[in-house]
Amino acid sequence: MFELTEEQTALDEAVGRLLAKTSSPGQVREAEAADPSGFSPAVWHGLVDMGLLDAAASREAGLPDLAVVCLRAGAHLAPVPLTESLVAARATGAADANRVVVFSPLGIDGAIAPLVSGGAVADDIVACDGDRLVVGAAGRTRSRRTLSGIATCDVTIGDVRTVDRLTPEHALDEWRVLAAAELAGLARAALDLGVAYVKDRHQFGVPIGSFQSIQHRLADLHTAVDGARLLALEAASALEDEGDPDGPALAVMAFDYCGQIAEGASEASLHFHGGYGFMLEYDVQLYVRRAKARRLALGDPRLQRLEIARRLWRHGRTGLDRKLDPETEAFRSEVRSFLDENLTDAVIERAHSTGTMHDPQLHKAIATRGYLAAGWPRDVGGLGRSAVEMTALMQELYSAGAPVDSMGIASLVAATLVLRGNAHQRTTIVPRILAGSALCCLGYSEPDAGSDVAAVQTRAVRDGDDWVINGQKMFTTMAHEANYVLLLTRTSPDKPKHKGLTMFLVPMDSPGIEITPVHTLGGERTNITFYTDVHVPDSCRVGDVDDGWSVMHAALVYERNSSNWGEPDRLVREVAAWAVQTGALDDPLVAERLAAHATAMEVGRLLVYRTAALAAAGKMTPVEGSMTQLFLPEAFTRAASDLLDILGARGVLPHGEDDAPLGGLVEHAYRHSTVTTIYGGSSEIQRGIIAERGLGLPRTR
Ligand SMILES: Cc1cc2nc3c(=O)[nH]c(=O)nc-3n(C[C@H](O)[C@H](O)[C@H](O)COP(=O)(O)OP(=O)(O)OC[C@H]3O[C@@H](n4cnc5c(N)ncnc54)[C@H](O)[C@@H]3O)c2cc1C
Repeated sequence: MFELTEEQTALDEAVGRLLAKTSSPGQVREAEAADPSGFSPAVWHGLVDMGLLDAAASREAGLPDLAVVCLRAGAHLAPVPLTESLVAARATGAADANRVVVFSPLGIDGAIAPLVSGGAVADDIVACDGDRLVVGAAGRTRSRRTLSGIATCDVTIGDVRTVDRLTPEHALDEWRVLAAAELAGLARAALDLGVAYVKDRHQFGVPIGSFQSIQHRLADLHTAVDGARLLALEAASALEDEGDPDGPALAVMAFDYCGQIAEGASEASLHFHGGYGFMLEYDVQLYVRRAKARRLALGDPRLQRLEIARRLWRHGRTGLDRKLDPETEAFRSEVRSFLDENLTDAVIERAHSTGTMHDPQLHKAIATRGYLAAGWPRDVGGLGRSAVEMTALMQELYSAGAPVDSMGIASLVAATLVLRGNAHQRTTIVPRILAGSALCCLGYSEPDAGSDVAAVQTRAVRDGDDWVINGQKMFTTMAHEANYVLLLTRTSPDKPKHKGLTMFLVPMDSPGIEITPVHTLGGERTNITFYTDVHVPDSCRVGDVDDGWSVMHAALVYERNSSNWGEPDRLVREVAAWAVQTGALDDPLVAERLAAHATAMEVGRLLVYRTAALAAAGKMTPVEGSMTQLFLPEAFTRAASDLLDILGARGVLPHGEDDAPLGGLVEHAYRHSTVTTIYGGSSEIQRGIIAERGLGLPRTR
């Protein structure tokens, strides 16, 4: 789903080789200066000679294959009407190497197809004419100079005949999908240009790419550009599959999102070039102009968002319904049945009223099903579920609002013990955790050690065969329910900070542990825990002395990215359903914003499952996980605030007030969502990882 096929990779490379020779920025400038402006015969003949139009016409190449080609073409700013001619070939089922036939996305206005890309060199035009798709001979009226034209011309159409291989709407959607791919390719190339520049350009004696404000913006864009590519390819697959009801909505979402990101990435890249970006000698302006011009090919982008809303939520539709592979779908159904049986309203209500996101019966049921170790290999007591299935499991739980803090922590602690614990911990404690009869909490954060967790000061000092622990931990969620705390301590203060840490698994009933509740804006309860002369035997140690840092990261082997998509996705769905029911969706301001949030959720879903697919294939790097963990909490926070605005004055009524809109769901999300940008590594920490490891920018911390 997330990797190109062998054939697509070969196609991509072949097109890449051709365009590297014929469509460099210098050659794009030459094409712009030629007459007609923005057309390169060398690129055109190169692509035609590769048989691309034939493959499109015969359907030997499907939309996903053509999207791969358009990604490359966009990255090279190819000065040819490629997208327009591929759609025309698919619409007519014919391709003639000696004739240029292009699709006009704006259709026919009176007798004229306006601003047709490739119109200045076209022999025939395919266009929407009312409810018909027609083809006819192109008669040129006048070439048009535009912000960034590809042989743009207003064209008359003669000898018109109907084309019936595609409906007008479908042809336009195919154009949207391929244009989206072009824009996603352009976005990546524009961003690469900016990244190369900030690595090279020095100010204040350092590369400007070492400035955090620049790094963080690039990290956001790196994530969004990956998301744009994934969305364009997803839309291409969905639209190709006639049985996929999401294809039309995804086509508009992809065009809208990829346009937005292409514009954002190229403008940011120009900005990071400083004054030089403004000089025509620099290439970045080529990308800025092309991105904006392509994005506006169908008019004001707001219209696309209204179309997304129409396709998602009108005619009885309730949003996207994406399916995964059959095995994962079967597992998802199993999880849904499990939740139907075990997650009652009373469980959710109790969690919200106490703030403790744990329910003993639900936890036991989860454990009994084997879900605590579902993603572990069978030979270490797991269910051997794939990373994709694990992600599906977590998203179902999140989406249903299940209180599962205890589940995530139990899985992590048990995995840490399996990998680094002693025989007693592995054979006695792990089975109890997996059976749901022992609960755990994580004692990492301290008053002066949050993001920089390696700075912890809680001391563990040897005392014969025992250790004596003194210190204070912040935010020890679940401490008031847990049997054990996985405690990160400092054992060698004189060593470098990462090298003097030791991990312990401490029974919570040890004398000297005190727990003070902390109540949070989001309603969740967490705790401060104090450790005063807590004596523990050496058998409580996990891993070697002074090796706590690597123990803390050991469980990453079983890490199944569980960024929370289910909860924000449900939020957007519920508000959309409310908007349909109340008529609020008739307000374009509401429809447009809901469409943007729904699109962000689909990008988030693709990022989550891309990460899972890479993990399943053993190819995950820290960067993909960080992208997901950056994108979703930020999208969640934006959505929660904006959706609360949409609910209006009454939106502030919380759960429990009898006329609270949507039972206070959005009000709660507004209070809760921000914390998702903080715990599990804040957005800034994720941006740092993406900038350093994903973009190769200098380390700033
Ligand atoms: C509800 C809740 C539950 C939690 N549960 C647990 C738990 O069970 N166990 C546990 O150990 N911890 C837990 N935490 C703690 C959580 O992991 C920390 O809050 C988090 O790591 C951030 O640390 P901090 O709060 O000290 O913020 P700080 O690290 O002080 O960060 C403050 C701000 O500075 C920014 N910042 C920090 N470093 C950088 C940098 N290098 N560059 C740019 N910006 C930076 C951060 O992004 C943030 O915006 C929980 C927190 C909350 C709120």
